Amino acid sequence: MEFIDLKTQYQQLRKPINERIQTVLDHGQYILGAEVAELERELASYVGVDHCVAVASGTDAILMALMVADVGAGDEVITTAFSFIAAGEMIALLGATPVFLDIDSHSYNMDATLLEAAITPRTKAIMPVSLYGQCADLDSINSVVEQHNLPVIEDAAQSFGATYKGRRSCSLSKTGVTSFFPSKPLGCYGEGGAIFTDDDSEAKVIRQIRVHGEDRRYHHSRLGINGRMDNLQAAVLLAKLEIFGEEVDARRRIGTSYSEMIEAAFESVEPSRRAIPPIVEDHNHSVYAQYTVSVPNRKEVIAGMTARGIPTAVHYPVPLYRQPVFLSLEQEPSNFPNAEAAAAKVLSLPMHPYLTREQQAEVVAALKASVVG
Ligand SMILES: *Cc1c(COP(=O)(O)O)cnc(C)c1O
Repeated sequence: MEFIDLKTQYQQLRKPINERIQTVLDHGQYILGAEVAELERELASYVGVDHCVAVASGTDAILMALMVADVGAGDEVITTAFSFIAAGEMIALLGATPVFLDIDSHSYNMDATLLEAAITPRTKAIMPVSLYGQCADLDSINSVVEQHNLPVIEDAAQSFGATYKGRRSCSLSKTGVTSFFPSKPLGCYGEGGAIFTDDDSEAKVIRQIRVHGEDRRYHHSRLGINGRMDNLQAAVLLAKLEIFGEEVDARRRIGTSYSEMIEAAFESVEPSRRAIPPIVEDHNHSVYAQYTVSVPNRKEVIAGMTARGIPTAVHYPVPLYRQPVFLSLEQEPSNFPNAEAAAAKVLSLPMHPYLTREQQAEVVAALKASVVG
């Protein structure tokens, strides 16, 4: 069984993907070509914002969004304690200090009730992450920062296609950033990412940063990077967009049935020895970038699943304040009880839009046998 089955997806999309790639090979424009421009229009309209800027990766999207917010030495940016490293890493790379907040134990996302107390005169921006495909509580976060006039940048690398109160991820705050890494809900065949905003001048600056701060050819008015998307990736994404809506529906259906099957399988098991399905808030539709359960005995469960031929992954075993690179920040782990618990217990199961009901039943049976022993 595959953890994420990209080969089956390619078989579904073989013709449009091959045609789109062939078109690029024929016209020979490889960087920021017509396909990138078309993709930006399609994605902006899908998300429901005025501007999409396609970039070289999700990490570059984070970096560029922080650069537009003028984050630099001496600043603080508030982000979640429990995620992939990219947000904290780019904050620190710009010379600013990442300020980690504990997560909410249900959603695994930044606990918005902790935000107000973490804001200081040095706070420059807030970067929540919409983890596992479920949006962070952006309305609460936006309303806390409103009187402080701080930009909120949603790291939506795992939540592209998700909705929050009926609105799409990447449209929920001043700036949204996402990744098209192959394993993400919308993935290309290399590196890719995008930035979303309704702010005209922000979009203009991002486009300059994307090409070394150039405002016209070989005239550099600010510092930028090489953050360009390549046109072959845009071609792949345009082909995949044709069925992305159906894939999002399939992800939701599969995620929901996983949860039903797991609840049924563990019904008769004593509560402390159960696998707990992810909790999706009523106002959220998750895209389940990861389908992540919590288990009491993870080491044994991973061994049991591996022995039964079921791949699993841990997102994430080490919270950010415990990463060697951030130990100098001297964060006290006891300030992050929910991140500590999550890092010890979470386990991601195979998840992709082409997972069959039979495969899900096999995963859940293996999970029960591995947890209960
Ligand atoms: C994947 C991911 C990123 C980085 O995206 P890349 O395209 O790999 O650079 C950033 N944040 C989160 C939460 C991610 O899952």
